[in-house]
Amino acid sequence: MVGDAAGMITPLCGNGMSMALHASKLVAEQVNLFLQDRVTRQQMEQHYTNLWQQQFAKRLKMGRVIQRSLVIHG
Ligand SMILES: Cc1cc2nc3c(=O)[nH]c(=O)nc-3n(C[C@H](O)[C@H](O)[C@H](O)COP(=O)(O)OP(=O)(O)OC[C@H]3O[C@@H](n4cnc5c(N)ncnc54)[C@H](O)[C@@H]3O)c2cc1C
Repeated sequence: MVGDAAGMITPLCGNGMSMALHASKLVAEQVNLFLQDRVTRQQMEQHYTNLWQQQFAKRLKMGRVIQRSLVIHG
């Protein structure tokens, strides 16, 4: 999954378009290696998943934590 399909950033953090473009670059590089027979499909998917986690997982989690802490309960 790439862009919003992989994980959506909270509105507070913005930058959804930039994340989608960045993830597209990550996935394109891995697909390119696969098409050149330099990695298997499984390796391609695993490498992309690892790169995505390194790049975005912490940011998305932090966004959710900050957003939750700012919700006003009435
Ligand atoms: C109201 C709103 C305001 C936003 N404001 C900002 C902002 O100011 N700054 C910012 O960085 N981000 C903003 N975002 C977030 C940003 O728009 C998204 O994070 C970004 O567009 C995600 O890109 P994407 O390619 O993953 O998905 P999308 O841009 O949603 O692209 C997915 C595309 O796939 C198409 N599609 C869906 N199903 C199929 C199918 N079965 N077959 C073929 N095509 C299909 C859709 O029509 C769409 O064109 C906003 C989002 C919303 C909803």
